[in-house]
Amino acid sequence: MDFLQRLARALDRPLFPWKKLIIGFSVGQYLLETFLTFRQYRVLQKTSPPAVLAKEVSRETFDKSQDYNRAKSAFGVLSGLYGQLTNLAFIQFDVLPKLWSLTGDLLLQYAPARFTGEISHSIVFVLSFMVIQQLISLPTQLYSTFVLEEKFGFNKQTLSLFVSDFVKTNVLTFVLAPPILAGFLKIIQKTGTSFVTYIWAFMAGLQLFMITAYPIFILPLFNKLSPLEPGELKTEVEKLAAGFKFPLHELYVIDGSKRSAHSNAYFYGLPWKKHIVIYDTLLEKSDTKEVVAVLAHELGHWKLGHTTSLFYISQAHILYIFSLFSIFINNNSLYSAFGFHNEHPIIIGFLLFSDALSPSTPSSLIKLHTQNLSTMDADWMYASYHFSHPHLTERLKALDWKGEKPVTSEKDKEEVVKASGRDEL
Ligand SMILES: [Zn+2]
Repeated sequence: MDFLQRLARALDRPLFPWKKLIIGFSVGQYLLETFLTFRQYRVLQKTSPPAVLAKEVSRETFDKSQDYNRAKSAFGVLSGLYGQLTNLAFIQFDVLPKLWSLTGDLLLQYAPARFTGEISHSIVFVLSFMVIQQLISLPTQLYSTFVLEEKFGFNKQTLSLFVSDFVKTNVLTFVLAPPILAGFLKIIQKTGTSFVTYIWAFMAGLQLFMITAYPIFILPLFNKLSPLEPGELKTEVEKLAAGFKFPLHELYVIDGSKRSAHSNAYFYGLPWKKHIVIYDTLLEKSDTKEVVAVLAHELGHWKLGHTTSLFYISQAHILYIFSLFSIFINNNSLYSAFGFHNEHPIIIGFLLFSDALSPSTPSSLIKLHTQNLSTMDADWMYASYHFSHPHLTERLKALDWKGEKPVTSEKDKEEVVKASGRDEL
């Protein structure tokens, strides 16, 4: 830890241009991502499918998929630009220190004295900040759901469902964020410079709690899970799970069709007690063999230890991030660069740090992307940055697919493309 402390001191120089550095990181990342999207966009402009797919996919289906993905790319670049501009405006107009002092004044005026300390203040600050950010991102969310997805037939949400989701999400945030934040800040206040291990243990406990509580208390607020009815599919899936020695406890169908035509399947639960969830949209589009194939892929992740290694990677990542944070937590020059001259609230340090100074997790590992199957072909640079799985063309090549005769009917192909916005497949 001595090394970290020396590094921390070395980085705390008055007048160090933190603002410029953070803006530079953020703009740099945006430019890199835009460059990759531009490369991918050129692939999406191709008018004929890759050779391996040529016999599998009809012209119309291919064009539609290219159209959809081009629209999504263009939208991504624009909404990213919007995010960049609001972020710059926040920095330029000192929104953080202004909001901090505003929420502090409000507490002093209206709250009982015992709720005016740093923890209460941080909670009120973070909740207001979240509400502001939610409102800022509302237009892009609305556009993505009701214009983009709608245009390609994927959106099944009504405006009233959108509104009720929005309200429920915010209520949940207001219920869950305060105790979590209070725990987080209290630990750092109490343990001083050695907070890293304690915070790590706290986060691990929190993860475990969320894995257990999410399906019981949170998921039912948004979706309905019903047990899969006995029948051929259930028998086949159970056989598959037994073959893998997968600790299958319950098989559910989820009403994903309420929001989107995209289909999916996943499993969750503690290591010794797992549940499989299948989207009703998947059942609608696929026969037993196809659903079992999708689940075989998912259980393959488990069998090959991907779930476990992801868990360890995320633990290592948390430890790494908080060790880095410990370098910046008392950096006076960082706080003053952003307008916090007298006060150094922990939560502000963490926001500034996580906003731009913390290295983002390799997205291929943690962020499981939604595009894998829907994109039929991809630029290699774009794919290595964004995809967690090989794309369709790579998979068919790996199978030594000759594409001599179509395996699916025309109608099925349509469905394959419609179904292809899956995560984690
Ligand atoms: Zn997968």
